[in-house]
Amino acid sequence: MNFDCIVVGLGSMGSAACYYLAKRGFRVLGLEQFEVSHTEGSHSGQSRIIRKAYYEHPDYVPLLERAYENWSEIEKEADAKIYHRTGLLYLGQAGSDVMSGVRRSAQEHKVTVEEWSKADLKKRYPAFAPAADFQILFEPDAGFVTPERAILSYVQAAMNHGASVHTNERVLSWEQGGQDIRVVTSRSQYTSKRLIFTSGAWTSKLIQLPVNLKVTRQTVAWMNPLNQSDFTLGNFPCWFTELPGQGSFYGFPILPVGRFGGPVGLKLAHHKAQLEVDADKVDRSLDQNHVDELRTFLRNYIPGGDGDPLAVRTCLYTYSPDEHFIVDHLPGTSGQVTMACGFSGHGFKFASVIGELLADLAMEGRTKLPYHFLKLDRFKP
Ligand SMILES: Cc1cc2nc3c(=O)[nH]c(=O)nc-3n(C[C@H](O)[C@H](O)[C@H](O)COP(=O)(O)OP(=O)(O)OC[C@H]3O[C@@H](n4cnc5c(N)ncnc54)[C@H](O)[C@@H]3O)c2cc1C
Repeated sequence: MNFDCIVVGLGSMGSAACYYLAKRGFRVLGLEQFEVSHTEGSHSGQSRIIRKAYYEHPDYVPLLERAYENWSEIEKEADAKIYHRTGLLYLGQAGSDVMSGVRRSAQEHKVTVEEWSKADLKKRYPAFAPAADFQILFEPDAGFVTPERAILSYVQAAMNHGASVHTNERVLSWEQGGQDIRVVTSRSQYTSKRLIFTSGAWTSKLIQLPVNLKVTRQTVAWMNPLNQSDFTLGNFPCWFTELPGQGSFYGFPILPVGRFGGPVGLKLAHHKAQLEVDADKVDRSLDQNHVDELRTFLRNYIPGGDGDPLAVRTCLYTYSPDEHFIVDHLPGTSGQVTMACGFSGHGFKFASVIGELLADLAMEGRTKLPYHFLKLDRFKP
């Protein structure tokens, strides 16, 4: 009942944090309100894009270098394949946020990104029908990681290193008193020297931040294209397209169910804030408007990919005000409480490095990892 560190939320970031803490020999308790893993939060749905030429900001690239190394570490330890190198196609107008951001990060950090002509694209991936004014970039080392397998692998490895893991147990409240923190759950109470919040879309219900987090429900669909073989893993890359004034669309190859499980079909989604929700009261019924939006995109830019949806799922984004992550000690807790939140729909690829970073910050109070641009003090009061 007495721990060195308690981790609240064993999803993307918390499962990795538990692993790094347990591996270092700390007595760690991981608390998850559902099962490991589940479909209520931000990590479900088979695949997440991983890329290094980070258009959002070049400061993320050194963290991504470490994330790739750490994915490889857990793959070896858990004997699980998590990262799949498919390459990533970026399509968009010259000077758009995505295209100029990719070029900038690639240049500053020497990430390999190839410039393709329309003829190159037609030869390699004829399924794409780019607009006349689109430029085409290709990042060969990008691809996807498998979130459910990654989280399960981290939790199992953490348990192998001695972590205690409790599922279907919700943290209700916590309080600091002297050296210890008391955590009250739906089943029991515990004390710990340190506390980490990796609670995703529920974070604002547990800690008071000086900024607002906005939770939105996002639609993801798996389509049934006419010619399946054009889109299978090995024949088709991950892709990311920015449309002026509409945000970005992105997608994956069709993954063989024997290796990846379901859903079956060609997965794509729209990377743009949708309906704001409360994480405990999400209406997960099918949103036809969003499905239509995805089909219109396919008809225009990947025409052979259009088809009836085979599966449509809801997943949650948690936006910080500037859409960059928040990783820091919680103000007023003398470094005893650490949090990672506000991943704004682009965090999963970093889970492997955020886990290490959280273990450093919680137990040592500092880290060598270059994360300072993610601290809370960037928001002016
Ligand atoms: C549709 C969609 C597509 C995405 N695509 C990509 C992509 O291609 N690439 C990419 O890098 N990222 C992508 N993301 C973003 C990425 O998945 C998220 O940034 C990441 O999963 C957030 O991780 P998290 O640990 O904050 O949240 P989660 O993984 O949801 O984990 C939070 C956990 O905390 C638990 N919890 C909360 N409150 C409590 C409590 N009181 N007690 C106990 N447990 C609690 C929750 O049950 C949950 O398991 C996508 C997200 C969505 C929704």
